Amino acid sequence: MNLFEQLGWLGHEQLILCSDADIGYRGIIAIHSTALGPAVGGTRWWVYPSEETALVDAIRLSRGMSYKNALARLPLGGGKSVIMGSAGAVDRRAILRAHGRFIERLGGLYITAEDVGTTPDDMEIMAETTRFVAGRAGGSGDPSPHTGRGVFRAMQAAAAFRWGSDDLKGKTVALQGCGNVGYHLASQIAAVGGRLVVSDLDGAKVRRVVAEFGATEAPADRIHAVEADVFAPCALGGILHDTSIAALRAAIICGGANNQLLEPRHGQVLADKGILYVPDYVANAGGVTFGGSVEVLKVTAAEAAARVDQIYDTTLMVLERARTERVPPSEAADRLAEERIRSGTLD
Ligand code: NAD
Repeated sequence: MNLFEQLGWLGHEQLILCSDADIGYRGIIAIHSTALGPAVGGTRWWVYPSEETALVDAIRLSRGMSYKNALARLPLGGGKSVIMGSAGAVDRRAILRAHGRFIERLGGLYITAEDVGTTPDDMEIMAETTRFVAGRAGGSGDPSPHTGRGVFRAMQAAAAFRWGSDDLKGKTVALQGCGNVGYHLASQIAAVGGRLVVSDLDGAKVRRVVAEFGATEAPADRIHAVEADVFAPCALGGILHDTSIAALRAAIICGGANNQLLEPRHGQVLADKGILYVPDYVANAGGVTFGGSVEVLKVTAAEAAARVDQIYDTTLMVLERARTERVPPSEAADRLAEERIRSGTLD
């Protein structure tokens, strides 16, 4: 792998390899950008098939955080760190403390939080060796309700853009994934009189949404093809590809899952089909907006919730720019993020 080429190509500032062989710790801290503020992004603990995949993950995820934070108008940059897990038994506490020590050395350039494979309890342990950690027990709490709220606000904005009214009453939303985000999104849609068709691989999660919000169940492998006004992917990434797009019947796609487009070109494929796609990182920024605002920027919970609601305005801005510049919304969002990061301002 040509590392410097990869870093330069994606516009990264710094990549730090961290090691403590005595305890079997191998960590990577990727700082994409600090142009808008300290680089914020979680610590992922994962068993990677190779060092290269771990590096690529850190590089890719940190860039994603820069773009998401910039679009959400947060005066924060983007970073991400990974701890390379191993199959054998390890001293988890020692490894978390080691990772915290490396973060501390950066003096606040990078601030971490939980991510896939780490928990608020792990953040407590890291806080023993670094001050630069959010997402601790007793901090801003579970991000999912805020993420669900943000997706709902993005969906309202997309409805206003497409249909001239943001009222989702009587609209049918096909929801893929009734987990943390999907459940909270469903509750918001039901509260305004929207109709829900839902799927999940976990039957208990489907039953809960059916019982609480009067949803109808659809087969997991057909949910994207349901006759609906909106398709809301809230499970996996890569769901929007040539085959699934050909089967889509919704006018709008707006959901919480990360990396919904299998390849960047699928943004154009959707636009060509006349489907309005709200870029995933615009719609799903509610969790980081709330957590970052409360824990890093130290605003009140009420002010942070108001910022989550502003995802409505951001979504409209992106969709309008896409129309004016005749590019897919995914491209318009990237352009806006890149301009803010390049100029170091959120205007
Ligand atoms: P979750 O694990 O609680 O929920 C995901 C659900 O999707 C699970 O119930 C799972 O059974 C279901 N699922 C998996 N494959 C499926 C399939 N093929 N069809 C139908 N259902 C399927 O996770 P979550 O926290 O709700 O996150 C959902 C997505 O949103 C992820 O892509 C995540 O990265 C993204 N996201 C989450 C947050 C947050 O605050 N939790 C913030 C930003 C982005």
